[in-house]
Amino acid sequence: MDKEGTPTDFIRQIVAADVAAGKNGGRVQTRFPPEPNGYLHIGHAKAICVDFGIAEEFGGTCYLRFDDTNPTKEDEEYVEAIKRDVRWLGFDWGDRLTHASDYFPQMYELAVHLIRAGKAYVDHLSTEEIREYRGTLTEPGRESPYRNRSVEENLELFERMRRGEFEEGECVLRAKIDMASPNINLRDPPLYRIRKVPHQRTGTTWCIYPLYDFAHTLSDALEGTTHSLCTLEFEDHRPLYEWFLDNLPVPHRPRQIEFSRLNLMYTQMSKRRLRQLVEEKHVEGWDDPRMPTLSGFRRRGYTPESIRDFIRRIGVTKKEHMIELGLLESCIRDDLNVRAERRFAVLDPLKITIVNFPDDEVEWLEAANHPSRSELGTRTVPFSREILIERSDFMEDPPKQFHRLKPGGEVRLRYAYIIKCEEVVKDAAGNVVELKCSYDPTTRSGSGDEGRKVKGTIHWVSARHAARAEVRLYDRLFKVPFPTGESLEDELNPSSLEIVEAAVEPALADAPPESHFQFERNGYFFVDPVLSRPGKPVFNRTVTLRDSWAKLEKEALSGAAQG
Ligand code: ATP
Ligand code: MG
Repeated sequence: MDKEGTPTDFIRQIVAADVAAGKNGGRVQTRFPPEPNGYLHIGHAKAICVDFGIAEEFGGTCYLRFDDTNPTKEDEEYVEAIKRDVRWLGFDWGDRLTHASDYFPQMYELAVHLIRAGKAYVDHLSTEEIREYRGTLTEPGRESPYRNRSVEENLELFERMRRGEFEEGECVLRAKIDMASPNINLRDPPLYRIRKVPHQRTGTTWCIYPLYDFAHTLSDALEGTTHSLCTLEFEDHRPLYEWFLDNLPVPHRPRQIEFSRLNLMYTQMSKRRLRQLVEEKHVEGWDDPRMPTLSGFRRRGYTPESIRDFIRRIGVTKKEHMIELGLLESCIRDDLNVRAERRFAVLDPLKITIVNFPDDEVEWLEAANHPSRSELGTRTVPFSREILIERSDFMEDPPKQFHRLKPGGEVRLRYAYIIKCEEVVKDAAGNVVELKCSYDPTTRSGSGDEGRKVKGTIHWVSARHAARAEVRLYDRLFKVPFPTGESLEDELNPSSLEIVEAAVEPALADAPPESHFQFERNGYFFVDPVLSRPGKPVFNRTVTLRDSWAKLEKEALSGAAQG
């Protein structure tokens, strides 16, 4: 880390060395190239922080470039969502918003250039035949019978492909490299295929579309990318990337550098799988707070700062690894601990009658909004004869170390008094329905003399004053540590969402959407921007106060390492 806490990883070292050596005239230009076929997930956040972050640190620029080369899967809704999420994360592409499709005319010319140079040909093998001819990791491929067509014939056929004279799948344009290469990506990779589908930007101008490697390399090289940062699965594609740069008259020579993907336990990040979750309605949408999408995290109450902090903490390396959710959760806890005001909310209420408190009296007690940030001030909370506490804060027959309320026992009500449980009231079925307690008026909090000390302190709300609010408690979307997404029925956690009606202190009824609170002892909560109505907030639990999963995750990881 340097003095500002900015990591100095291997990519930053390479970029710094390139700048020092005067490569590209000292210029640094990167790009984040999402395909608009789904919403961004937290894995993308890593790529965004790397691409935009490095450009920013070196005084360079970063483009947001949509990789829109597959008109059958892409949609304008995704384009808008991606822009919103990149901005939310705190990055700005300025006027550097581009699309692979912006370069379609030049790409076509460059494909013609390859044909003229005898380095590309139109192949009439079917998709299955091409796959079969390609060979395997251990066997070389076979040359297509169409491989040695003349330049003139190829030029004419490619032109006819462009004019729409062939059907989808009838032929493709392939680079002519080496069918025996140990690197399968160099075995005459397809460059163009036919797709008779209107494109969201270019309409029906084209019926042939460039394939990923060709389109991606050329977009980089035409746009002036200096450092093309991508994930490790593209390492084997780098020789092809460089083959294009070596064989085409392009104005720039970007350098591709790969880093490992972000993998999170209990999380599935393939966009295809995420789309399936949405389409099959396992979740309420792409922005369901259980989804690992940036819009899901936002709705859950994660802050962009906490996600950037998380990405900074995991660092950038070439090592494949699995990150524990606990690390992400500790980033948001650290951020919200500073940011969030404290409030009282009782999620599972049990009624207490304070028998020696007058029925018609209300005492307004002062409560701090934050334990260490006094500038956040205080609020008053009403105390009255009937209060509600958390059902789990009472035990009729508790173990020794239980310091909350038990028959005959005492507990402090935070910001109020010490109460003593005098009587347990049960219904016919034997369930505890109410406690009758007495309070000790000499023990008022903040009075300068709190009187006696007791071991336990609990939160509470005045029953008469409490507002009712919907609270959504989220748990892991997947119950298995390393979900494949292949068998959702077995892998999804059936209790990933629990909705409760909580009793909250009166001030919370007016909580504006998108505000963060710590409900004391219950976790951090966020006012849902979609479901809340004026005076009727819906609270999403962003994260619990403690990491209750750490042990399980450690066990799963060590199991995976052994197995
Ligand atoms: P998916 O497999 O989820 O569909 P993708 O890689 O196909 O993801 P793109 O839209 O092509 O999705 O991704 C844009 C950029 O984000 C790429 O440069 C890709 O390397 C990067 N990226 C995607 N997933 C991750 C991840 N888990 N960690 C880091 N970077 C990622
Ligand atoms: Mg991709």
